[in-house]
Amino acid sequence: MTARRLLLLGPPGAGKGTQAKRLEESLGVPQISTGDMLRQAVASGSAVGREARSYMDAGKLVPDAVVIGVAEQRLRQPDASRGFILDGFPRTGAQAEALDALLARLGVELERCISIQVDEDELVERLLRRAEIEGRSDDNEQAIRTRMEEYRRKTQPLVDHYRASGVLVEIEGMGDVEAVAKRIQEALA
Ligand code: AMP
Repeated sequence: MTARRLLLLGPPGAGKGTQAKRLEESLGVPQISTGDMLRQAVASGSAVGREARSYMDAGKLVPDAVVIGVAEQRLRQPDASRGFILDGFPRTGAQAEALDALLARLGVELERCISIQVDEDELVERLLRRAEIEGRSDDNEQAIRTRMEEYRRKTQPLVDHYRASGVLVEIEGMGDVEAVAKRIQEALA
């Protein structure tokens, strides 16, 4: 059976979003990106958006309570009952614990945590390229540096959490989109 309850873990620019969208197509389960949801909240001017905005622009993580609320609400939607691809959540130990507790309450288990590894020079180059194409307000050099730092300090340690729970698969994220997609596909079998 192909795994359908997935988490993509990796630094900013590792290609999580691109791969999550492909998996959404091939597996028929939704991509759940807290980054996309927060950007929508900012654009709509909602209370969540007003709270999240300054953190996002600076490249800092949005407070756990805000993000956990957003992610939980999304995971409870009916379309996530058959599976999901978490992209950019969880990013802290508290978020990982909240996710574990929620999935336990829902009576389901995370089947894979795919950790995508890319070296840092390549990441910065990718992010600066994306900044030109997409014009994201957090793709300037200072914010990029802060996002990397946040990842290293707060998110990278989650690799151990998912290794301990036996769902971790580490894959090489260098190379083109197709090659990475193939490695992920193999990790789901
Ligand atoms: P992303 O598109 O996933 O890179 O997220 C963009 C920004 O949204 C991040 O730099 C954070 O400011 C915020 N964000 C997204 N997901 C989370 C999360 N799980 N925890 C905290 N902040 C988040």
